[in-house]
Amino acid sequence: MRLTPARKLVLNLFKTKSSLLCAEDIERLLKNESIFLSTIYRALEYFEKENVLGKSTINKTAYYYLIDGKHHHYMICTTCLSRFPIDCKLDSMINKNMKKHNFVPTSHDLTIYGYCENCAKLQNN
Ligand SMILES: [Zn+2]
Ligand SMILES: [Zn+2]
Repeated sequence: MRLTPARKLVLNLFKTKSSLLCAEDIERLLKNESIFLSTIYRALEYFEKENVLGKSTINKTAYYYLIDGKHHHYMICTTCLSRFPIDCKLDSMINKNMKKHNFVPTSHDLTIYGYCENCAKLQNN
């Protein structure tokens, strides 16, 4: 992985934030660093391709999060964009179905969207 100064700034943001970030969030957070939005988009694409960042589209906006080595799934709050990891329990289901269809799986994806505890409370008020 090649880290330009701009890429390093973007990556460091993801290491300090636990919620998802879109390109505009990053532009706002890095406003003192004078990085173009187009540079941020390119950095995000690069990290996604390198499997450093994962991407979720929420309300038509692409949000990114750090992939922390271990395979996880996530529950994502669509209001505050908090993210909660869930262990993957899909392997036995995938194994059973791949045999049935002689299918060769290479990867899978599952994200659960909803409201976190705090945002669920606000919904009911
Ligand atoms: Zn929330
Ligand atoms: Zn999984």
